[in-house]
Amino acid sequence: MARKKIVYNFDYDSKFLNEHNVKKLAHNLTHDADNSEKILDCLFTAEVTDEQIAEVTGIKLNFVRKILYKLFDAGVATYTRKKDPETQWFTYYWKYDCRKAAHLIEEEYNKHNQEIQDSLEFEENNMFFVCPNGCRYPFDEATDFQFICPRCDEKLDFKDNASIIDNLKNVESTYIINDD
Ligand SMILES: [Zn+2]
Repeated sequence: MARKKIVYNFDYDSKFLNEHNVKKLAHNLTHDADNSEKILDCLFTAEVTDEQIAEVTGIKLNFVRKILYKLFDAGVATYTRKKDPETQWFTYYWKYDCRKAAHLIEEEYNKHNQEIQDSLEFEENNMFFVCPNGCRYPFDEATDFQFICPRCDEKLDFKDNASIIDNLKNVESTYIINDD
């Protein structure tokens, strides 16, 4: 049976919340895209226990817990404890925290764009020199090295960086902002 397509509904209003971004964020937090996506599918379906997630996804329970705790550490997953009146055992029901996720995604998005902007300014404000092996230095460093690559002992030549600047102008954060 094919896996049912889960609809990601968000209980917090933010232009940073969409399926792509929450998956991307989970991937960054857990370094496990495949398993974290399966777990997100569960969290966006219902409040679920770690055992239920393991059962539905086929992921080993200790692995499910590991990923849940990584999401919990970052604040994007929370749980409520419920005591079973018969066994007196606590069961943990997990849910996704959309509000916290929106703020984290916004932070990451702004950080990416700042890095892109910084790189662009650095490229625009400097001339670059390269050796035949591809080592690359801004003008100030190249003059310090008297235009000889300190790693390769080869001559450093001016290299135009217009194409790098063009590429940077087209780079965008891996997070996507929703259209209004
Ligand atoms: Zn070199």
